[in-house]
Amino acid sequence: MLYREHVLSNLLVLTILLWVNDHFKILDLIILQYVVFGVGYWIGTFFITPDLDIYDSKVNKAWSSFRFIWYPYSQCFRHGRTSHSPIVGTLSRIIYLLLLLGIILLITTYFGLETSGYRQLFNENWQYIILLLVGMIIANISHVFMDVITKQRR
Ligand SMILES: [Zn+2]
Repeated sequence: MLYREHVLSNLLVLTILLWVNDHFKILDLIILQYVVFGVGYWIGTFFITPDLDIYDSKVNKAWSSFRFIWYPYSQCFRHGRTSHSPIVGTLSRIIYLLLLLGIILLITTYFGLETSGYRQLFNENWQYIILLLVGMIIANISHVFMDVITKQRR
């Protein structure tokens, strides 16, 4: 499926999800929680999708000058396999980003820069970080679902 089609179908899925949630009163979120979820969903639709397993994909190009950070990822994962599994695929990308973040933190700590601010930021906002990740995961699941029903993995 094309990048553009994935964006459209993800928007449709998001609309349906919000409608179902509102209609059946499943989760009672505050505005800020909706926004955080929406940002996660937006990232999972435009920037962190299963198609990062192709280095030449549109989503990779969306990273512009930072595209290179996904080169090792695209070499480790064959297109349409593990990266296209709904939960494990998304987790592989999150773990990959955390590893990169870890390396950056190690380097900054090595050069004596203060990193406790980041830790405090995480400790105080971890519920929102989880909500952000859930938004990303659902957007990625929607991508995989559309790939499966259209049987074109691109
Ligand atoms: Zn795909």
